[in-house]
Amino acid sequence: MSNQINFHPDRSMLVEFSAGTLETALTICVSAHLHFCDQCRSELLSLDQLGSQLMSDAKPSDIDESLLDTVMAKIDEAELAQVNSKGSARVPVNEKPSSFPFSVNKLIESTEHSATWSRLNSSLDIARLKTGQDKFEVALHRLCAGGKAPKHDHQGIEYTVVLKGSLSDERSVYSEGDFLVRQPGDIHQPMGGQNSECICLSALSAPIKLTSPLGFLMKPWLQIRPM
Ligand SMILES: [Zn+2]
Repeated sequence: MSNQINFHPDRSMLVEFSAGTLETALTICVSAHLHFCDQCRSELLSLDQLGSQLMSDAKPSDIDESLLDTVMAKIDEAELAQVNSKGSARVPVNEKPSSFPFSVNKLIESTEHSATWSRLNSSLDIARLKTGQDKFEVALHRLCAGGKAPKHDHQGIEYTVVLKGSLSDERSVYSEGDFLVRQPGDIHQPMGGQNSECICLSALSAPIKLTSPLGFLMKPWLQIRPM
């Protein structure tokens, strides 16, 4: 899959991903990005080759796409080994999972009692995903066409990968595959693209901080619930 992607995980994240030392929630986000990004996939291949050369048992091999898929599937399986996978696979309404990264679909299927949408405001839904770690809330966010999320600051780090459609904020427009990182002090108000709904994968290490004076009324925003 290839399209114009302008925002990528930084190199240190790819290095950690390649080494298998990246945190679970971030591994999920990076692997979702890799699904869309040829550039980072080939960078990862170089890193993997470099890594295997550094190992004493390095064996020359013609690494191809299918091998990468196998490696990624293994990573996904390792993550999911700790996830309780019972419960029916009810996917979010109106979604076409085949267009989503493999790792995301696995999480949707594996989330206990299935991943389901719940409403955060009139234009935004959330479906939390079970990942078996407790540092980040990993979730899908669905923003309706032209819909606005509340303007907010961050108390922790927020990683976002656009899976479907596009969104924009004060800085730029983001389309499928784009990888965003927001830190404390980055205030933004994401808005869905005008033509279609936008679905993002996100990992949040602490609740967002609403900048509206009425923010305290919006209780669902004030906590994160890693599963
Ligand atoms: Zn990339």
